[in-house]
Amino acid sequence: MSNETLRENLLFKAKNGYDLITEAQKAEMEAYCKDYTAFMDAAKTEREAVTYAVAAAEKAGFKPMVPGMELKLGDRVYCNNRGKSIMLAVIGEKSLEEGANITAAHIDSPRMDVKPNPLYEDSEIAYLKTHYYGGIKKYQWTTIPLAIHGVVYKKNGEVITITIGEDDSDPVFFISDLLIHLSADQMKKTLAEGITGEQLNLILGTVPMADDDGADRVKLAAMALLNEKYGLIEEDFLSAELTIVPAGKCREVGLDRSLLAAYGHDDRVCSYAALAPLLKLGTPAKTAVCVLADKEEIGSVGISGMQSQCFENFMADLCAAQGASLLHCFANSFCLSADVTNAFDPNFPDTCDKRNNSKLNYGVGICKYTGSRGKGGASDAAAEAMGYLRTLFQKNSVVWQAATLGKVDQGGGGTVAAYMANRNIVTVDAGVPVLCMHAPYEIVSKYDCYMTMKAMDAVYTGL
Ligand code: MN
Ligand code: MN
Repeated sequence: MSNETLRENLLFKAKNGYDLITEAQKAEMEAYCKDYTAFMDAAKTEREAVTYAVAAAEKAGFKPMVPGMELKLGDRVYCNNRGKSIMLAVIGEKSLEEGANITAAHIDSPRMDVKPNPLYEDSEIAYLKTHYYGGIKKYQWTTIPLAIHGVVYKKNGEVITITIGEDDSDPVFFISDLLIHLSADQMKKTLAEGITGEQLNLILGTVPMADDDGADRVKLAAMALLNEKYGLIEEDFLSAELTIVPAGKCREVGLDRSLLAAYGHDDRVCSYAALAPLLKLGTPAKTAVCVLADKEEIGSVGISGMQSQCFENFMADLCAAQGASLLHCFANSFCLSADVTNAFDPNFPDTCDKRNNSKLNYGVGICKYTGSRGKGGASDAAAEAMGYLRTLFQKNSVVWQAATLGKVDQGGGGTVAAYMANRNIVTVDAGVPVLCMHAPYEIVSKYDCYMTMKAMDAVYTGL
């Protein structure tokens, strides 16, 4: 055997997706990414993502899950968890005793939340105070157009939805940064200290109340505008959930339009990849389940996070309809924890192990483990689980690559994987490689988005 043949047969060499893609796949990829773009423009918060998912699921024949309801083969049900997270299922041929094929992604993204007592005036400018949510580089969130999204539970019990800054005719909001001319002191600070959390104050307005010689005329004028349009009084902020996110739409990037820039690819890019094929799924062998969770960015805690019993509740209701044991179901299930990973960035090569980092256009990234330091906090998938995925993806022509989050001891991260694995469910992490993760605008490759959707579809189908 020649050395050339040996090299071909023995050594592993990954290929760029564009050396593998067919014309038919290209058309499918573009169509998928167009739908994904529309989803991104409609869903900038977990609430909006749930609203979108419920409407799309209803259209695809899904019905709300009611405890005790009868479930037949091929039935499609969902559970809207208080408008903040959602779980959907398509009932398969086999009993849930034999397990389910599950995908779990998250629909919350880093952002700034409005504080409970947010409104104040300083130097005749009205501001809203914010508290950042998730891991952000604070300096990145200044001097960019921002929008307000959220809900307010008013004193009279009425709940109203507010979105300002997305329509072309809307105003946007800003957080200021210091002019470079006066930044001698600021420029000596670290990036972590240059802008502080308490400086993330949103400019609301500057026009004072007319014919008024009381205090805080600009604040009063801003409140009057909110009252006129939404019927709000200042006290209503106490029972509001208003979030500040980058204003603007998902855009194509590059002369070849191969990339997509948007706010919140982490992790709506995997959420949509998990949702879209489930809505089109026929009757699977095992019951297929999709979880779109909230609160991943702050530790998957709380009633809508992946650690919440709401997942057990939903799965137990499904099991009860078949007389199956929830614990047996979990023990025999497989879960793909779908969350983004970092794409190798040649601008910052020293932060990654190039041989083990995912790359743009090489397909869905499979993370055997995440965590930090000595794999701390990771759900480390076993060889058998990796082997199962490898076989599944080969059978379904899913192009994938290995992914690790940066070089050893550089930092790290986690996903919902550990919380699924803690439930005795075999779990592997996988997701779309992202450039500048957690920045106001993040970048992904269309090819990787498409392959991640194919990966989720394969998980539902199973081996
Ligand atoms: Mn994530
Ligand atoms: Mn994240």
